Amino acid sequence: MSEHCWITNGTLVTLADGCGVVEDGAVKVRGSVIEWAGARSDAGSIDGQVVDARGGLIMPGFINAHNHFYSTFACGLAPHDPPPVNFLDILERLWWRLDKALGIEDVRYSALVSMTRALRAGVTTIIDHHASPNAVAGSLDVIADAADTVGLRCGLCYEVSNRDGQRIAEEGIDENLSFLGKTACDADGLVRGMFGLHASMTLDDELLAKCVDAMRGQDRGFHIHVSESKFDPDDSLKRCQQRVVNRLADAGVLGQNTIAAHCIHLDADEHDLLESTSTCVVHNPQSNMNNAVGRADIQRMLRGNVCVGLGTDGMSANMFDDVRMVNLLHKHDTGDPREGFADAGRLLLENNREIVRRCLGWNVGQLSAGTKADVIIMDYTPVTPLCSENFAGHLLFGLPGASVSSVMVDGKWRLQDGVLLGVDEAELFAKALELSAQVWERF
Ligand SMILES: [Zn+2]
Repeated sequence: MSEHCWITNGTLVTLADGCGVVEDGAVKVRGSVIEWAGARSDAGSIDGQVVDARGGLIMPGFINAHNHFYSTFACGLAPHDPPPVNFLDILERLWWRLDKALGIEDVRYSALVSMTRALRAGVTTIIDHHASPNAVAGSLDVIADAADTVGLRCGLCYEVSNRDGQRIAEEGIDENLSFLGKTACDADGLVRGMFGLHASMTLDDELLAKCVDAMRGQDRGFHIHVSESKFDPDDSLKRCQQRVVNRLADAGVLGQNTIAAHCIHLDADEHDLLESTSTCVVHNPQSNMNNAVGRADIQRMLRGNVCVGLGTDGMSANMFDDVRMVNLLHKHDTGDPREGFADAGRLLLENNREIVRRCLGWNVGQLSAGTKADVIIMDYTPVTPLCSENFAGHLLFGLPGASVSSVMVDGKWRLQDGVLLGVDEAELFAKALELSAQVWERF
């Protein structure tokens, strides 16, 4: 029987059955799963290895449902002369130049840096969408290696598009399929695959059909950007005489294990299609504000029972940035102070967990018997009462200022009392600086 360990002396937030806040809680981990979680007084005898949360918060790790590790080296690189005037200009002059400048070691170090930051922010699962057109083959393996080194749970895919020609599109299809094949054989691994598509506007009908054909018989779905800006529906109407969600539905891309990121510029029919196909949507408010592309109507999606989760789109590694933005953006834009607050916690804590379950098959995001042991300890001393009913208020206005002291992923400690285990951060950051300077030269 595998070793077990207890985590005690903290306020437990199980996120099971509501928020499940338990004063003086305890968690028992055996192998890679939670064996028991509840009040210390109900725990019986506490034996074996015991980790002291020192009065902090014991809770599940956070999930980032849409990310781009490859964006790490963009910090400070934005083209300014003249500044980009719209989203297409941002893509063409920043992102589609940066990703072409990445070699395989740049992919590795972009991921390592981003992952260590995520772990320090208490994020234990990331669903990433990768692009490096001049280093496609093996790129997902390299990111998977990084995930193993840092100890992060990841869903990975390569974004296929027409933008770099036929050969690179084929390489992208192969990379997705080969990674799906490898990870399907490793049920205990920290990484799993999806099939990445860039966006409707960079995929012609032939390539889209080829990708859908390639995925027949697979039990995983697609991960694609949908109507992030008005360029996507404009292009689809012009080239295909239909709107983006209709086009993707007809092509066979949508479904309950597919992620449609953004979904900002949709009409009523497209909203209905997301509902009827049970497609997962990921909202990225910080990125949308930064690109000035508009705001997704998440209220309408949630009313229609669409599973809307939350991602950073690579803007940061910290989910507190985006969860706070959900609350602020929707209040600000609607002029209604009732908006945003309840949705923020729902997206991050409930729906991201459901997206990971549907798209990757992991039971994470709560602490109860049988769930994966992805646990964080936060140095948080509430100065106002904390209970299940008001946890959302602490999430938005208290926890963002607290530090994450320890992180366990899949039953293994990866950050302990502020120290990353198995990663030399100084060495890693120095190497990243050296590589990023060379990427900027090529850019
Ligand atoms: Zn994105």
